[in-house]
Amino acid sequence: MRIGQAKPADCPGIRMGDPRGRPAHLQTLWNYALATSLDAKSTQTPLGGQEDREALSRFAAWAFRALGGTAHRANSGVEAMLPAPRLDVRRSGEVDDRPTWLRLDAPVRLGIGLDTDGEFAEPSQGHGDSIPADQTITPRSPQVEWLIDRLHLLGAAVHSAPTRQPASAGEIAERLLPTYRVDGGRIRLSGCSLEDRAFFRIFARSPAGTRPQRFVEWTIDADGRRVDDQVAAPLGLDEIGPVQGRPSEVAASALADLSHLAEQGATAACGPLETIAATLVWCKWASGRLRIEFPQACAEIRFSDWAATLEAPAFVCPETGRKTHHIGVTDDGRIAAGEEIATCQETSRRTLRRELSQCSASGLLALAELLATCPITERPVLKRLLATCGVCGEQVSPAAIRDGQCLACRSLAVALPSDPRIARVLGEFPALDGWRKWRISETANRYVLVGSSLLKRLLVVLDRMTLEPRRVATGGRLNRAWTTIPPEQWALELGRQESA
Ligand SMILES: [Zn+2]
Repeated sequence: MRIGQAKPADCPGIRMGDPRGRPAHLQTLWNYALATSLDAKSTQTPLGGQEDREALSRFAAWAFRALGGTAHRANSGVEAMLPAPRLDVRRSGEVDDRPTWLRLDAPVRLGIGLDTDGEFAEPSQGHGDSIPADQTITPRSPQVEWLIDRLHLLGAAVHSAPTRQPASAGEIAERLLPTYRVDGGRIRLSGCSLEDRAFFRIFARSPAGTRPQRFVEWTIDADGRRVDDQVAAPLGLDEIGPVQGRPSEVAASALADLSHLAEQGATAACGPLETIAATLVWCKWASGRLRIEFPQACAEIRFSDWAATLEAPAFVCPETGRKTHHIGVTDDGRIAAGEEIATCQETSRRTLRRELSQCSASGLLALAELLATCPITERPVLKRLLATCGVCGEQVSPAAIRDGQCLACRSLAVALPSDPRIARVLGEFPALDGWRKWRISETANRYVLVGSSLLKRLLVVLDRMTLEPRRVATGGRLNRAWTTIPPEQWALELGRQESA
C-alpha cells in the first residue's frame, strides 16, 4: 500500500501511519476526535424503515465480501455467494463449514422486507428440506447472526475499502489526462501519491426485545463527526469490500475509542443500540502534479483530493487568468489558455488574442503593430492596405477613399471667417487673409482648407494640433488638378506670423 506525503489539513478521514509502519499520530487524532465529539452535530438522523433496510443490505453485502464471498445489492436485498470450503477448515473440522442456508450452487437472495409500520418484516417459515433460493433476513435472523459470528473471527475491526476507487497512479492518469486538450504539446502525470485515510464504521442494532427493531450503519471521520450519505456515497463508502494489500496497523486502544465514539453518536440519534460489527474503511487520497510540456516551455497543475471524487483541475492561464482545460503556447513560448491564443493572419504567428486586432477593411486578424488607425474612419486598418489621399496626403482606409480623394477632401464645407478654425488659421498665417472664400474639412490629424478667388484656388493642409503645413498647392477655378508648391516657398505663400 502506497502512502502519500502530502497531508492537507482540511480533509476528513483518518490518516495512516508513516511510511515506516509506525502508527504515528493515530492516538493524537483519536484523542482529538474524542474531545470534539460532544460538540459534533449530526446533520442527518436515520429515520428507520427504508434507511434501516438499506443499512442491513449494505451490512450483508459487505459481510459476504469480507468473508471471501461475492455479493451485490439488488432490489431491497442482497444476492450473495460464499464458495466452499471457506475460512479455517481446521477450526470446524469439516470440508464445508457453511450453514445449510448457504449451500447453494447459485447465489442466495436475501431479501429485506418491511411491514406496513416500516418495521422489518419477519421471515416466512421455510417449508420442506430444500434450501430456499429466496430468503428473508432481519437484524436478528439466523443468517445475520451467522455473519456476525464469522466476522468476529476476523478481529476487532475489519479493514475495508470502497470496491470502486482509483487505486494506482495509472488509474489517476486515465481519469485526469483525457480531460485536457494541449495544442502542440503534451500533458502527463509527473507525480502522484495515493495515501490511505480511514473512516470508521459500525453496524448496530437494537437490543433484543426492543421495538421497533433498528439497524443502523454509522460512519465517522477523524473528528468523530458522522459522515452522512451525501459525503459517503461519492467516496464509494456505500459499497465496500476487503481492502487490497496489507492494511496499516491501528492500535487496539484507538479502535476502542472509535467504537465508543461511533456507538455514542448512533445511540444519541437512534436510541439504544448494540454494535455488531465495525470496520475501518480506507479511502485513497490522491495528490500530485500534472506536467504540461511544450518544446519551448512547461507548466504544472497540482491536484489533491479523494481519489474517488478527483476531477481534473482547471489550468489557470497566467496571461489572462482564464480557467480552462484547453492549453496552448504562443510562438514566443508563453503558455496560455488555448481559447486565448490566435494566429496572426498576416504573419502566421501564434500569439495572445488580445495582441491581435481585426482590420476593418479586410476582416483579417493581425498583430496590432501591423495595423494603423484610419484618420477618417478612426478604425484599425492593415498598414499595407492604407491608401494615400491625392489631395491631403493622409493615409486612409480603402473604405474612405474614392477617385484618389479621401472622404474629408471630398466633403469640404463652406466656412465663414467667423468659424473658429478659419480664425485660428488666419491668425497664424496672415497672408491667407487675401483669399475671398474658404472651404474646410478635417481628419483626425489634419485641416484641409481650400481658399478661392476669382480665378485661382489655394490648397492648404495643416497639422490640426500644431498648424504645421503639410501640403500647399495651387489650382485653377475650372479644373480639379493641384500644382504642389515646394516647401521652401510656403513661408512666402502663407506668411506665417512668427517666422515671417
Ligand atoms: Zn484627403
